[in-house]
Amino acid sequence: MSDAVSYKKQGQVALLTADNPPVNALGQAVRAGLVEGVARAGADPDVKAIVILCAGRTFFAGADIREFGKPPLPPSLREVHEAMEASPKVIVAAIHGTALGGGCETALASHYRVAVPSAKIGVPEVNLGILPGAGGTQRLPRLVGVERALEMVVFGQPVAAKKAKEWGLIDEIVEGDLAAAAVTYAERLISQGASLRKISDIAINPASAPAEVFLAMRARIAKERRGYFAPECCIQAVEAAVRLPFVEGMKKERALFEECMATTHSRAQRYAFFAEREVGVIPGFGKEVRARTVAKVGIIGAGTMGGGIAMCFANAGIPVTVVEMKADALERGLGVIRKNYEATAARGRLSAEDMERRLGLIAGSLDYGDLKDADLIIEAVFEDMNVKKTVFAELDRVAKAGAVLASNTSTLNLDEIARATSRPQDVVGLHFFSPANVMRLLEIVRGAATAPDTLATALQVSKTIGKVGVVSGVCFGFIGNRMLFEYGREAELLLLEGASPAQLDKALYDFGMAMGPCAMNDMAGVDVGALVRKAHRAELPNEPTYYPIADKLYAMGRYGQKTGAGYYVYPNGSRTPQPDPVVEAVIVEEAKRLGIERRAVSDQEIVERCIFAAANEGARILADGIALRPGDIDTVWLTGYGFPVYRGGPMFYADTVGLAHVVKAIDGYRARYGAVYWPHAPLLEKLAAAGKTFASWREVM
Ligand code: NAD
Repeated sequence: MSDAVSYKKQGQVALLTADNPPVNALGQAVRAGLVEGVARAGADPDVKAIVILCAGRTFFAGADIREFGKPPLPPSLREVHEAMEASPKVIVAAIHGTALGGGCETALASHYRVAVPSAKIGVPEVNLGILPGAGGTQRLPRLVGVERALEMVVFGQPVAAKKAKEWGLIDEIVEGDLAAAAVTYAERLISQGASLRKISDIAINPASAPAEVFLAMRARIAKERRGYFAPECCIQAVEAAVRLPFVEGMKKERALFEECMATTHSRAQRYAFFAEREVGVIPGFGKEVRARTVAKVGIIGAGTMGGGIAMCFANAGIPVTVVEMKADALERGLGVIRKNYEATAARGRLSAEDMERRLGLIAGSLDYGDLKDADLIIEAVFEDMNVKKTVFAELDRVAKAGAVLASNTSTLNLDEIARATSRPQDVVGLHFFSPANVMRLLEIVRGAATAPDTLATALQVSKTIGKVGVVSGVCFGFIGNRMLFEYGREAELLLLEGASPAQLDKALYDFGMAMGPCAMNDMAGVDVGALVRKAHRAELPNEPTYYPIADKLYAMGRYGQKTGAGYYVYPNGSRTPQPDPVVEAVIVEEAKRLGIERRAVSDQEIVERCIFAAANEGARILADGIALRPGDIDTVWLTGYGFPVYRGGPMFYADTVGLAHVVKAIDGYRARYGAVYWPHAPLLEKLAAAGKTFASWREVM
């Protein structure tokens, strides 16, 4: 027998146990082992039933995605499933952990399924830009009905055991030892003379899936999965299950799967998946670098960010003490937290008990002394170096030895903040994004003195609170905002040259960004950027065309949504941007003042200039050692800046359009606008000259 799947007989039941750590991916050895085990049990007259289960922490959690794009090694997963369905002995899948993708499909190729109460079952392939390619789209609708199958295939959300039982996706929830329970279940099937229940034999009643079901799903994905390629293919595959016999449906599924697999979308989504998983890997850190325990957290400042950050920890079950300067500020801050929870509860997404439990984990205080037990203290006070230094000096006085001291600063030098303490090794930046309780990105800023275990603690904390922690070095803007400044500066220039805010935003929205730069500025606050540019004038380009419209809007008191007007107007508190002739006039006037002749600007130019400006800066960030990998930069933009996952991030996107093309375009812009805006990025130029991509950036460093 194969090493990956062991064979054991227990009475009349053959147990096939797969053991392929860490997640029992369905690699070649596992597939071969399953076929072999099913054949062996089939040939053994003493065996009347087969139980398929997995060792370790989970049932098959999916295909082995390292095999993607390589010539398939037999047997294919489909062949495994054919062998299983055709087995003369009844097969029971025994599920624990997560039965995902190929794992779910393997369960569906079994005749019966049992699962432990904590198990989850699903087909998340759509998140990698593909669809379940081993019968999932054909068997699921036969088993759980077309509407439920559509939901599972198109959105990729796994279903918990309880619901799976209700839907008939599993036959029984079993308690206690899974192997023993599955054998008992199989013995019962034997004694009942249970039939070989092949899902492929089930006929779907077309009346159960009227055209409206598919129409409604198409309307949903147009909104909820705008721009993605795979969801429509998922729908077509399920449609095929309704219209075609099983064998034909399987052919259609295969064709759609291959079509998806060949897209840049799918390449980008798979890349993004791996990039996100890699962000926590720090070169040079071995097992000896251990995160410190964080059981109690302190937060300084109960403003916009402090409140949101406190919620992150309470949501994760960690007690937090929020310290403010004045009682009214504290009361206001705690009030906002309560309101936020109440809004979530009102939408039915949080029970009253959970809300109270979380609120109960958040304590307010006016005394820094209350932070003496905290393992981690996060400062979120005004963005002012002197204030921050005072706070850190105070923290140095009250915090226990070994406590991690973090700053949420967006623009200040972390090393200078750290020097206000006697323990710069314990200081790290935790740059949350607003709203902090919602946004997935957390930039973890590693100062010159930050100790390895301080950084490891920050990374561990990011996981605990469900964030994607990306490490950045110290520089103005860190990874994300440093690139955003370039992107936004191009956007402003394009306005001056002839684009309207609406055209600019639409071009980038159609490219796939969650929103265009003007709408984004209006949401974040035109004043926020203006004040940052003011405070950091010395570090930023000293050009008259550097954000003149934003500065003008700021001077006019047009701060965006919060004042009802910015690049757009928002009448009566609306959040929907409406074009404003006043802004058009401002733009025309500014262009005139700066001697810029306005012209028609194409959408393509808008996208290219904005995204290439970001990617050019990304290359410099990488070469400077601010980011550890191109994938880290892309992860920042995918999780914090609304970049479309199906384009992989600015660096991956540059790779897909070709770095030689990118460099040629940038050379042209540099000739037009100067090297202040388009500085050389030697890494990018070297890669382009060598015909390489960012994926192989280390080779030219
Ligand atoms: P805010 O003005 O909403 O809140 C700051 C709070 O800190 C106020 O409630 C103030 O009373 C309190 N405070 C000031 N000095 C204090 C002290 N010595 N002790 C205790 N409390 C004190 O500001 P914010 O938007 O929450 O920003 C806080 C920090 O987060 C800043 O460094 C900012 O750059 C950073 N940040 C903000 C955003 C954002 O979008 N707002 C995003 C990322 C990072």
